[in-house]
Amino acid sequence: MSTNQPTAGVLDSHPERIGKPAEKPTDKPARPPAGPRRIPAPRVLPEALPFWEAANEGRLLVKRCVDCGQTHYYPRDICPHCLSANTEWLDATGLGTIYTFSPMGKDEARYTLAYVTLDEGVTMLTNLVDCDLAALTIGQRVRLVFKPSDGGYPVPMFTPA
Ligand SMILES: [Zn+2]
Repeated sequence: MSTNQPTAGVLDSHPERIGKPAEKPTDKPARPPAGPRRIPAPRVLPEALPFWEAANEGRLLVKRCVDCGQTHYYPRDICPHCLSANTEWLDATGLGTIYTFSPMGKDEARYTLAYVTLDEGVTMLTNLVDCDLAALTIGQRVRLVFKPSDGGYPVPMFTPA
């Protein structure tokens, strides 16, 4: 017999361990239902304050680099493409396409997490809202909607265009 497979004999001598489900604790209280989803207030960094102030007015801003011309998201003072500090705010059209999406949560609290690529070229981590999950497709056109957060700025989300 080969000596380089020591686990085979161990497993064979304890067949009672194989396929036996872990014991479930019976005194664990049932988890309460999640309830309707609440959107947490976004954490606002100073460099992104104009982004959130614009969100309060129903406008979506992205950052564009004056030196290299590329847009980026999330908003930063320094261009992530060329490290220039010469960046400016640009009003986005609020139109884009679904890059990918996934259902999250359960019951009343379920929501659809997604990456949406804006027509301005940046891809945002966001949610798809006010839509039928089963009817969503990658590449579908979507438009911006703002949803209120829990005591903070409204949050940009998307719905089928
Ligand atoms: Zn740049």
